[in-house]
Amino acid sequence: MREILIPADRLSARVLELGHQITETYRGTTPLLVSILKGGVVFLTDLMRSISIPHHIDFLQLSSYDGGTKSTGTVRLLSDLATDIGGRDVLIVEDIVDTGLTLQYLRKQLEIRQPKSLRVCALLNKVEARQVDVHIDFVGFDIPSQFVVGYGLDYDEKYRNLPYIGVLDMK
Ligand code: 5GP
Repeated sequence: MREILIPADRLSARVLELGHQITETYRGTTPLLVSILKGGVVFLTDLMRSISIPHHIDFLQLSSYDGGTKSTGTVRLLSDLATDIGGRDVLIVEDIVDTGLTLQYLRKQLEIRQPKSLRVCALLNKVEARQVDVHIDFVGFDIPSQFVVGYGLDYDEKYRNLPYIGVLDMK
């Protein structure tokens, strides 16, 4: 590990704020939080405990990295949601948006199913790495274009358990 980019206390403070914003946005409704396996799971489980209105959760799995540090550019749906999202208020909960290709693909896939609303919450946003224009409604942190691990994010399945976001030393 080269450096800690976002320590655990800053993560939990920001996740709490995001939870409050989401609570106010969806008050009076029961949104469906859609988490992307596997990296988004730690963020989702913290985020849902900071949301004080009833909500449902579901999961899907996508792949574009194949274990490395560069996006392959081709997104695949590895496993789908169990929920019918037609007419639902859906919030995609992403760990990190890099090129934006994954989110663009996912939005298209979910829009076809005609949810009532479709928003995006991303913990980390690599603004400079963006290749396609994707709108993010709730952003945790804008970060530089470095490969980060921890808090659910892995390198070759390692480091998911770190309680902070760190920059990986690739040397
Ligand atoms: P995008 O399609 O926006 O380029 O990439 C989105 C996905 O790539 C994320 O959901 C995540 O799985 C992976 N990813 C992008 N940047 C990083 C990073 O810095 N670290 C890790 N561990 N995964 C990343």
